[in-house]
Formats: sequence, C-alpha cells, structure tokens
Amino acid sequence: MNKLQLQTKRQNLLRQLQNLDPWIEGSLVSTSRKCGKKNCACYHNGPKHPVLFVTGKEAGKTVCLYIPRQLEAEVKQWVQNYKKLKALIRQISEVQKEIIRLRE
Ligand SMILES: [Zn+2]
Repeated sequence: MNKLQLQTKRQNLLRQLQNLDPWIEGSLVSTSRKCGKKNCACYHNGPKHPVLFVTGKEAGKTVCLYIPRQLEAEVKQWVQNYKKLKALIRQISEVQKEIIRLRE
C-alpha cells in the first residue's frame, strides 16, 4: 500500500473508533447475592439475586463497580466497545508503522 492508501485506511479505522462511543474499561463479573430484606426468599436460604459488576484497576487497586439492572445491557455493550477500541488502536498503530516503513 502507498501512503495515500494507508491514510485512507487510517481514516476508516478512526471512523469505526468514533462509532464505538461510549466505552468502559474493565471486565464483567456476574455473581449472586442476598439483598438483605428479611421478607425476601433469599434471606431464608432461597435463590439469591444475580448481580453484575465491572471490575478493573483504578490507581493500582482492583475496583468493583456495581451495575444497576436497568443498565446491564448497555454496560455490556460498553465493555465490548472497549475491547474493539483496543483492537482498533492497535490496527491504527500498525498503519502508522507501515507509513514509517515507506520512508517517504
Ligand atoms: Zn432477596
């Protein structure tokens, strides 16, 4: 590929990147827990409630962020977007390396 083709490729990748917004860094962790209500079945060893967290490092510490039920589908998408974002950044970086190798 020549420089112009590589720049076009980068533009396409950048466009894909913009379409990924929003994104969130972290991993999805689903678990189940008791809600704490004494009148709930879970309190009497019934089935617990499934809950979703996003875990990730913040200032070197692992942080668990609780995801409210009504946001679960959206947040799953944001986590996916972040993975795609990382892949795109890598691809754009590869394009830039190709441009350097052209030595123009
Ligand atoms: Zn409960």
